[in-house]
Amino acid sequence: MTKANRKHLIIVGGGASGIACAITCKQKNPDMEITILEQNERICKKILKTGNGKCNLGNINIVNGCYYNQDFALKKVREFDVAAFFDDIGLLTKVDEQGRMYPYSETATSVVEIIKDKLDRLGVNIRCSFEVLKITKTDKFIIQGVDETIIADYLVIATGSNSQEKTNGYLILENLGHTIKKLSPRLVPIKVQENVKSLQGIRIKCQATIGNYQEKGEILFKENGLSGILTLNISRYVSYNDKISLDLIPEIDEKVLERKISEGLVERDISTILRGMLPKMVALDIMKRATKVEDVAHVIKNYIFTVDTLYGFDSSQVTRGGVDTSEVDDNFASKKINNLYIIGEVLDVDGACGGYNLMFAWMSGKKVGLTI
Ligand SMILES: Cc1cc2nc3c(=O)[nH]c(=O)nc-3n(C[C@H](O)[C@H](O)[C@H](O)COP(=O)(O)OP(=O)(O)OC[C@H]3O[C@@H](n4cnc5c(N)ncnc54)[C@H](O)[C@@H]3O)c2cc1C
Repeated sequence: MTKANRKHLIIVGGGASGIACAITCKQKNPDMEITILEQNERICKKILKTGNGKCNLGNINIVNGCYYNQDFALKKVREFDVAAFFDDIGLLTKVDEQGRMYPYSETATSVVEIIKDKLDRLGVNIRCSFEVLKITKTDKFIIQGVDETIIADYLVIATGSNSQEKTNGYLILENLGHTIKKLSPRLVPIKVQENVKSLQGIRIKCQATIGNYQEKGEILFKENGLSGILTLNISRYVSYNDKISLDLIPEIDEKVLERKISEGLVERDISTILRGMLPKMVALDIMKRATKVEDVAHVIKNYIFTVDTLYGFDSSQVTRGGVDTSEVDDNFASKKINNLYIIGEVLDVDGACGGYNLMFAWMSGKKVGLTI
């Protein structure tokens, strides 16, 4: 087949979903010309930041609640074998006791190096520093960059989200006729209405309750709010004025704690008793909040913070909202435009901490790669 006769697939976005799509599609269609257009000077930039540099690339526990918009996401992710996908491209993975999957090397750089090697060996074209500005469709796709226009037979939009990145992917898809659901940062620290300045820098293990949602984990106090993995997960469920209740000693029942404190009071004062249980500044705050000694156990078990706002996209790991998933089919093909596919986080799907977001990105990329 001559180059002129070859079908050309353009993938906009060289992140997790885009590269999974490129690899799978090129393996299946070696004759197809496949080009990734990436606005940054290199591909996979965000992957390097994931999992604190260790890249939590998946999770083997796909449970109820791990995705927003789970009716769309859950079944597809359950059918996807993330370990096999990486085994195929030459990356050994391992799973920790919480079901989180990591590269065996525990470094995101090895994930990126293996991906780049695979793309290179397959002969996928990679054009970095190419920001797509606008796309129109006649019988083919006309993709406009800053000073170049490219024509494609098939188009995949894999532009990711606003979280710690800039993208005009939402606008491009809106101009192509798709609906964009309201965007907001998630997996993000939470500003609270209470003054927490004195607690800044303290990490505390606890159980958080917000509405029907409950999770154990670690909170990190910031100057004006809460952070840490537990907070990031809570940020999926909160809005203004919601009350987040922290149980600082979840292992001990409130009545038992009450008794322990009153027995302790025989020999010690309340501040010494609390110092034996909690970090100093937290203990002081508990004493400020409890109007009388008898309330202390209750305050420890119900340490309440009121949501002010979420921190911004620059501090978030994912973006809630995006392309309305009712406008793509189960293979991520647009129901509005022929030969257009939409994958990854630009869709209105977001997951909890723990590898769920990358799982969705690899899965959707692979599915489209097999479909085209
Ligand atoms: C700090 C941080 C830590 C995270 N840790 C984890 C984790 O451990 N586990 C997990 O599962 N998830 C994690 N996530 C979320 C995860 O990284 C994303 O959900 C995932 O990368 C989404 O994949 P994607 O392909 O949709 O988008 P991305 O990986 O963001 O890729 C999109 C690409 O498109 C490019 N692009 C955008 N617009 C254009 C344009 N107009 N022209 C050309 N290129 C364009 C962008 O530059 C980007 O490279 C983390 C996110 C952050 C920010």
